[in-house]
Amino acid sequence: MVFKGLNKSAENELKKIIDSPGGLPLIKTTKSESELSLTRRPINATWSISLDCNCPECKEDIDLLDGPDFWEMHDFEIGEHETKRTQNVEVICPNCEHEFSVNLSY
Ligand SMILES: [Zn+2]
Repeated sequence: MVFKGLNKSAENELKKIIDSPGGLPLIKTTKSESELSLTRRPINATWSISLDCNCPECKEDIDLLDGPDFWEMHDFEIGEHETKRTQNVEVICPNCEHEFSVNLSY
């Protein structure tokens, strides 16, 4: 196979992709019109926000946002970290209710 307009190393890269088990995706794709419009229809994507740590008491992986009254006890921006009010924050383990303090990181 000869590829016009490609230098030798680009040509080798292309040959490698074509010879690989999956081949060159662009050449192999033969989706019908209806399949294409289906893949373009938007679906919902949901933000997932958590504040994860390991409880020093029960050792469980916990999401501090599951703790009782987290947002009533604290006033942070989503993702806030390395600010004065996100250091040494008193939290309660949602699993065993152990109280401890954390520094928030992102
Ligand atoms: Zn715990």
